[in-house]
Amino acid sequence: MPDNNPCDGCNAKCCRYIALEIDTPEDRNAQENIRWYLSHTGVQVYVEDGKWHLQVNTKCRHLDKNNRCGNYADRPKICRSYKTGNCENSNTEYDYELHFKSDAEYKSYLAKQKKKKKQSGKASRK
Ligand code: SF4
Ligand code: SF4
Repeated sequence: MPDNNPCDGCNAKCCRYIALEIDTPEDRNAQENIRWYLSHTGVQVYVEDGKWHLQVNTKCRHLDKNNRCGNYADRPKICRSYKTGNCENSNTEYDYELHFKSDAEYKSYLAKQKKKKKQSGKASRK
């Protein structure tokens, strides 16, 4: 019988990062913190459904050399509830509103936002 496990052949992309929701950066301090996060290699920030997230690329210590979970029976709830249909290895595009992979990308976004704000300020004074 053919093995239809969708995880076969995948290098366990879902076991190679953690992602945490963070506060929307509303002020200069929060923006500076985002810049600091993104100055580190392996760190990304994305916005999905209006919510900001910090992603840290780091391999789970339980992932074995065959890309299998070495702690399967006792794996955390989040791993148990993860669905293969919409995972990193599926063809589904992640629908991020924003995605920053470096502090330079974020800085350029902030500059564009500032410019937009300035232009809309000018327009409303006309
Ligand atoms: S859930 Fe997706 S990303 Fe994770 S091992 Fe399976 S196919 Fe790969
Ligand atoms: S505990 Fe297992 S399923 Fe969960 S991230 Fe680690 S290797 Fe992957």
